[in-house]
Amino acid sequence: MTAPQPLAPGEIGTWAAPGRVNLIGEHLDYVGGPVMPIAIDLRTTVKVRRRDDGKVRVWSAISDGSVEFDATTTPGDVSGWARYVAGTVWALAQSGRTTGGADLVVSSDVPLGAGLSSSAALECSVAVALAGAEGWEIDPIALALTCQRAENEYVGAPTGSMDQLASMCGEVGHALLIETAPTPPTVRAVPAHWVEDGYALVVVDTQAKHSLATGEYGVRRAQTEELSALLGVEQLASAPPDSVLKVEDPVLKARLRHVITETQRVRSAARALSARDWRQLGQLMTASHASLRDDYDVSAPELDLTVETVLEHGAIGARMTGGGFGGSAIALVEAERVGALTEAVAAAFARVDFKEPRTFVVSPAGGATRLS
Ligand code: ADP
Ligand code: MG
Repeated sequence: MTAPQPLAPGEIGTWAAPGRVNLIGEHLDYVGGPVMPIAIDLRTTVKVRRRDDGKVRVWSAISDGSVEFDATTTPGDVSGWARYVAGTVWALAQSGRTTGGADLVVSSDVPLGAGLSSSAALECSVAVALAGAEGWEIDPIALALTCQRAENEYVGAPTGSMDQLASMCGEVGHALLIETAPTPPTVRAVPAHWVEDGYALVVVDTQAKHSLATGEYGVRRAQTEELSALLGVEQLASAPPDSVLKVEDPVLKARLRHVITETQRVRSAARALSARDWRQLGQLMTASHASLRDDYDVSAPELDLTVETVLEHGAIGARMTGGGFGGSAIALVEAERVGALTEAVAAAFARVDFKEPRTFVVSPAGGATRLS
């Protein structure tokens, strides 16, 4: 059993990248729509030491022992958690940056598989650590897209670009309004002042991890591609609102309705955030949840129960966040009510024998960076 090594001689430094919470704009980052996440104050750190033998070895606190692979790894070589790291090494090499070798020691306080993007935090922290160790100057948006490629093509998860862009580009005290199309995406920081105005953003990690998540995510992607072909549009998020009338199939119609209404909600939410109109932002979040539950069909009983319970206990808005089928929900609530809300959610979960949820407050944090 090898615990993560302290990495003394030859150690170059420590880099970090955060998890994220999406405020609004769910399942829009693969249809060319806008999304509005924050990077959060939970992060993954990577210590790095260079090697000159063309090998990469990685330790993580979540696992006994370490995993070693070639810097010229190709998809399929590495399985398990280390494929997120190997994928990042591979995607960097695909963009012309092959490392000469490295030892990497990973630790994280982003909960794994909770919908807070521990996967992007891992890819982005490894990417900035390798770039730092090698002296590569890479634009953060390009580096985020490299990390997305790792997740898509090496890990095999068909996710959009939001998670990596949020982790790479986060700004303290700001949400990020990201336009995911045209390529490359653009990221605009929008000041997020709810804390100064007496509100808190609460995350409820429901502890529900649904096995259908990956398969159903792929199904949603396929349905949006079918819709784009049917309507003859490049990016489904820019289909005109009345195109819903052209779709006969009730399931596809509902999926399209989510994409179109959610796109409108993100734009309204960015205005509400700038105007510090918390009631309006909250209403848009709650409407987003209803759309994800009813039209996009990606919620879960634990997420619905959380949203229902927090709204009954003073939250001014709440929704699932991330891909869905489990994971986390968020609530915007007056700071003094956080304790009561936390207790109410725990009690509601206990009543129906759901696993005990974990509730905590997050605030908008900075993106991937060097720590030491
Ligand atoms: P999420 O990104 O919502 O946390 P994912 O399923 O996309 O969920 O990614 C979680 C997976 O990422 C974990 O199961 C693990 O394989 C990998 N991972 C994330 N963080 C770490 C870490 N610190 N150490 C090792 N593996 C990690
Ligand atoms: Mg992930």
